[in-house]
Amino acid sequence: MATTHLTDDCIFCKIIRGEIPSHKVAETDKSYCFLDINPLSEGHALVIPKYHAQFFHELPDDHLADLLPLAKKVAVASGLDQYNLLQNNGAMAHQVVPHVHFHIIPKPSQEQGLKIGWPQQQPSQDDLKKTLGRIKEKL
Ligand code: AMP
Ligand code: ZN
Repeated sequence: MATTHLTDDCIFCKIIRGEIPSHKVAETDKSYCFLDINPLSEGHALVIPKYHAQFFHELPDDHLADLLPLAKKVAVASGLDQYNLLQNNGAMAHQVVPHVHFHIIPKPSQEQGLKIGWPQQQPSQDDLKKTLGRIKEKL
């Protein structure tokens, strides 16, 4: 396995290299999936690239393109049709481990799995247009 894109001091890079044990679910040349050590529900898994980057937007497209099909395969294999696919970027967004990871979190019942506080705002149409302009300017 190519380890050129991994770093020495990252816990998930160490898991990929086999230096820290994990419950491997599946892997490809570019991605690795294992069970979360502190699951929110049974089957909570993490899908990570074999490429060290903290943020989603730092990942090369070929690694990104490999991740989601593996996440889909594991989601199907987990046998539940209700689940959250979650990816956090930065400490304020609740990212604790600074190596890109997608959580697959089965939602077997109202009580188990991810609980989301969803503080929705109510912008005006003008505010939405301004936001759209700001983003599209840089696309
Ligand atoms: P996040 O808050 O999105 O950065 O989530 C990091 C996740 O990594 C948490 O759900 C942890 O339980 C999980 N985690 C941390 N260390 C390990 C480990 N050694 N093996 C498996 N999961 C881990
Ligand atoms: Zn890493």
